[in-house]
Amino acid sequence: MSREHVYNFSAGPSMLPLPALERATADLLDYQGSGMSVMEMSHRSSIYQKIFDETKAKLKAALHVPDSHEILFLQGGASTQFSMVPLNLMGENGCADYALTGNFSTIASKEAKKYGRVNIAASTEACNHTRIPKQEELVLTPDASYFHYCANNTIFGTEWKYVPDTGKVPLVCDMSSDILSRPVDVSRYGIIYAGAQKNMAPSGVTVVIIDKSLAGHELPITPLMLSYKLMIDKDSMYNTPPCWCIYMLGLTLDWLLEQGGVEGMEIIKRERAKLLYDYLDESKLFRGCAEREDRSDMNVTYRTASDELDKEFVAAATARGFLNLKGHRLVGGLRASIYNAMPVEGVKALVDFMKEFEVSKRV
Ligand code: PMP
Repeated sequence: MSREHVYNFSAGPSMLPLPALERATADLLDYQGSGMSVMEMSHRSSIYQKIFDETKAKLKAALHVPDSHEILFLQGGASTQFSMVPLNLMGENGCADYALTGNFSTIASKEAKKYGRVNIAASTEACNHTRIPKQEELVLTPDASYFHYCANNTIFGTEWKYVPDTGKVPLVCDMSSDILSRPVDVSRYGIIYAGAQKNMAPSGVTVVIIDKSLAGHELPITPLMLSYKLMIDKDSMYNTPPCWCIYMLGLTLDWLLEQGGVEGMEIIKRERAKLLYDYLDESKLFRGCAEREDRSDMNVTYRTASDELDKEFVAAATARGFLNLKGHRLVGGLRASIYNAMPVEGVKALVDFMKEFEVSKRV
């Protein structure tokens, strides 16, 4: 099956914008007449430094990152941030608040417990994470070092539609699966982090946007490579950064900025999600898993009445070029991940196929 006949709904690594892939293909063997691929250049060379600086500048422009904050390009995935955040921030007061709204925020809280006290500010475990806690449900610790939450729950298909108000306590947010899909007031956050492999680039680079005043208070046991202060001082180049992934992020950002930036992305994201949710709301065969008001515009989780029928749907969809619609193994069911690079036509085609499947089952 060739690329033209496929819509890829993978939760991550996910599809990238075609123009970015085409640019990378053109540059692959010989980057702009340098005689080298980006994979073969010294990260200390002026030619690579330019790629790095431009990518950072494009990300700063796209997210309107204020000068109070630094952009870091790190490694280890979003999962390494589960340790890096408490190691660097817990020292302040020895305690942090965590909202548990899914798999990744729960793992993050368990990791943080190794380095200090963790207060569970809210948990939606009792309803299998089908909703997001309301502001008034949050049990906040006034002197917590930070409040951690995951903006979009990739596996369960829920999304925080509001920014929690935590007073003076810095917000730390895992935006792995919704970064760059909407405007964000970065100044409200102490730290935003995200693995690249959904909305940004191939896996391998982790974007961290940090309020510089939070760095420099790491616990003494903090490994060298996990110090925000060191990475800020060295502009993410204490060691070799993920050069190729940063370059790819730059190409994705070129595309994103041409499409109207995060403001443009938000309009398309709403259109995509509405198409799919409107159909799920009327379907007699499929039903959405998350509570209506909290459902994610990026990861649409749904199911039929049985595991067998879910399986049959996935097989039929795959044969028609709608790939990776199986739900995460923790929850089963079905999931369509519709990140920035998914065209509206892809969702329209999926909905048409789902309708056809529903008719064939004569519900
Ligand atoms: N947080 C969220 C919201 C995720 O979706 C993922 C991965 N799917 C992670 C964290 C873990 O990311 P990584 O694989 O980059 O460590």
